Amino acid sequence: THFGFETVREEDKAGRVQGVFSSVASKYDIMNDVMSGGVHRIWKDAMMDWLAPRPRQRLLDVAGGTGDISFRFLKRAGSGHSTVLDITESMLVEGRKRAEAESMHDQLDWVVGDAMALPFPDNTFDVYTISFGIRNVTRPQEALNEAFRVLRPGGRLMVLEFSQLPNPMMQKAYDAYSFNVIPRMGQIIAGDRDSYQYLVESIRNFPDQETFLGMVRAAGFDNAKYRNLTLGVAALHSGWKL
Ligand code: SAM
Repeated sequence: THFGFETVREEDKAGRVQGVFSSVASKYDIMNDVMSGGVHRIWKDAMMDWLAPRPRQRLLDVAGGTGDISFRFLKRAGSGHSTVLDITESMLVEGRKRAEAESMHDQLDWVVGDAMALPFPDNTFDVYTISFGIRNVTRPQEALNEAFRVLRPGGRLMVLEFSQLPNPMMQKAYDAYSFNVIPRMGQIIAGDRDSYQYLVESIRNFPDQETFLGMVRAAGFDNAKYRNLTLGVAALHSGWKL
């Protein structure tokens, strides 16, 4: 029924996600560097290498937060425009400050919205990115379906997300590290254990590379492929709307 267990649990997740990101927004960029040892920058650069931004492209950067992907994309493209969409307004506020500091204000729009119900018409964007965001979305398949809808024919999807290590021994070691170390580091550095406990749980619960590839195809994308980053700690998925 509508008031069944599943519905309640899903609404819980959306509320929790917003709570987490509202509380970390002002510290988000620095915490990213500290917690990943700067590795997230290498992964985002790898994303740009595969995406190969071109001048005048229109990007939609969903769950774009403080705009990391959009800034990189626009710098590489040399010109173009990005719409950063996020469900947490305080993340966008931080991003907008950065845009002003870097004099890139004209190339960016900041929109509060949900990845599962994008406030844009069909066939609008050349490129759709979602970086470390889709794992937080309540129903990721709906987000992928929306990505397909708003991309123009010939448009490209690129997803950067934590993933699973194909080697079981390595996965075990990685689990032991992340479940023990990350929440503790979150407590010590940000005074916030719960947000980082949520982070490791959401990583572990997200579908593996092949399963997610199936979801990208199910949304309608052609020529769908993935690349592992750092042994599968993260992965890039690419697809085309043809
Ligand atoms: N893309 C940025 C990056 O790579 O640094 C930010 C990623 S941050 C880990 C995840 C973001 O997803 C948060 O800003 C959060 O508010 C956003 N988010 C979570 N669920 C969302 C949804 N359903 N629709 C849009 N954004 C969402």
